[in-house]
Amino acid sequence: MGVEFTGGSRLKRFFGGASAIDSAPDEEKSPQHPTSKAASPQDIAQQMLLDEISELLLGNGLLVTPGNLLAAHAAFSGEDTNLARKIIEQRKAGEKITQEWLDQNRMPDTTQEGVKKIIGHLESSLDNFVTTTTSASDAATSYNTAITAQVTGAVSLDPDNALVAIETLAKEMIDRTSHFAAEMKRSADETRKLRQELDKAKHDADIDHLTGLPNRRAFEAILDKHYREARQEAENLCVAFCDIDHFKRVNDTHGHDTGDRVIRAIAETLARITNDNCHVARQGGEEFVMLFRGKTPAEAFEKLDAVRENFSNRNFVNRSNEEPIGQITFSGGIADVFAHANPRDALKAADEALYRAKSEGRNRVMLAQ
Ligand code: GH3
Ligand code: MG
Ligand code: MG
Repeated sequence: MGVEFTGGSRLKRFFGGASAIDSAPDEEKSPQHPTSKAASPQDIAQQMLLDEISELLLGNGLLVTPGNLLAAHAAFSGEDTNLARKIIEQRKAGEKITQEWLDQNRMPDTTQEGVKKIIGHLESSLDNFVTTTTSASDAATSYNTAITAQVTGAVSLDPDNALVAIETLAKEMIDRTSHFAAEMKRSADETRKLRQELDKAKHDADIDHLTGLPNRRAFEAILDKHYREARQEAENLCVAFCDIDHFKRVNDTHGHDTGDRVIRAIAETLARITNDNCHVARQGGEEFVMLFRGKTPAEAFEKLDAVRENFSNRNFVNRSNEEPIGQITFSGGIADVFAHANPRDALKAADEALYRAKSEGRNRVMLAQ
């Protein structure tokens, strides 16, 4: 039996599983941070978030490391809905959350890996550059010394010998200059290559490799921009989550590669309705997140539901063995961003709506209440 995790009211509410009664004892349990009249709802939410992070880490004997804090924050703030759900399942099963479990189930931070790689390349390029400039500077110094000595000597020579000495000097100068030029070109090439790697890393950090769609991180920036603009222009803004129904069965029956192709097919279908005011990103796994700017929830519903309907009428075949896969469906949840305190709360509401769509039979889109 694992350690009892008591601070789950927020998580449960997030997934629609808790009542006000559930949450009351949690709030009363923190006399050092009383939920007095003076505390704003935001203060209370912040306090609960902190309580839940600390209970997850301390209650499971996990170290308070930046990585664990990030993972816990992502789960309880709704950023990593997958981890949040898995924590609930783990607790329901009475299993302890170990470091190994957390490392396996948290979202991998791919950009950190990319950044580390680039930093490594930058370091070696910088070392090369320092070596080049140092040797160029050393060579220039010794060349200056040689020139000074030869010029001093040449003055005392007769004109013929002076001419030979100057010719020798000029040849040496040409040799060394072309050597420096080659070294400098090598450094410039290296810098250019590094610049390209950096551009690619920046691009890779925003793109999901399986589908070519923006990833969750890139979507956050897109949502942020549209949120600011739509608020200023008093335009509608909706967010949606879509999740493939019974996708595990596709993987289990037809294999992971076929599962990947199904994910790509849904990605392509959703991407078809995107434009400057409609964006789709891969949230992770078989989940997609969308943004509809300038559409009421009813209009966004109409758009997404039409895609769902069309998609559900397609018949899939396993390309590797021609076996029929049949119908693949997805469920969706939509929320009006400006009906919530912030985009993050709207995303939670869309996620709740998605899970209502699942529990009411799947292959449907639901609006947040
Ligand atoms: P539900 O209708 O409730 O959503 O059921 P489900 O089976 O779709 O849901 P669940 O979350 O249990 O399963 C999702 C599965 O998606 C589990 C995981 O192995 C699989 N998955 C996640 N990412 C990928 C991926 O990139 N490729 C493939 N092939 N499978 C993936
Ligand atoms: Mg899912
Ligand atoms: Mg699913």
